[in-house]
Amino acid sequence: MAILKIVKEGDPILRKVSRPVEEITPRIITLLDDMKETMHKAQGAGLAAVQVGVLRRVVIVETDEDGYFELINPKIIAYSGKQEEVEGCLSVPNVWGITSRPYAVTVRALNRKGETVEITGKGMLAKAFCHELDHLEGKLFTDEMIRPLTKKEIEELRG
Ligand code: ZN
Repeated sequence: MAILKIVKEGDPILRKVSRPVEEITPRIITLLDDMKETMHKAQGAGLAAVQVGVLRRVVIVETDEDGYFELINPKIIAYSGKQEEVEGCLSVPNVWGITSRPYAVTVRALNRKGETVEITGKGMLAKAFCHELDHLEGKLFTDEMIRPLTKKEIEELRG
């Protein structure tokens, strides 16, 4: 496994639409493993392949409560409710803001074995699914942020 370089805002690749994975090759498996290691090193809750410079529809998400998910060619098939919570991104360092997201989201995707899975996430997991899937469309959370957090709020968040 390897730690990959995380692409930062300003790099035009983050604005590109990622392509579907047509076949789960050993390269895709290696990509998933490397993304996991990279996300852990950076202490993130999610990572899209485009954030490590690979324009493929592959994302990983991890929350303390719900565990770890690998999603290949993910699609949101249902959503409900609304939440306005704090969001940040490994590609947009030192910026946090309030976004409006559905409270619950159901995602259909392939896992690394090529099996179709459906996962319903609520709260933080739903927010993370939306955030990572936006990356596949070339969107960043700052595009639709309701407002950025102030310096004081960020300090409080960091404890
Ligand atoms: Zn992000």
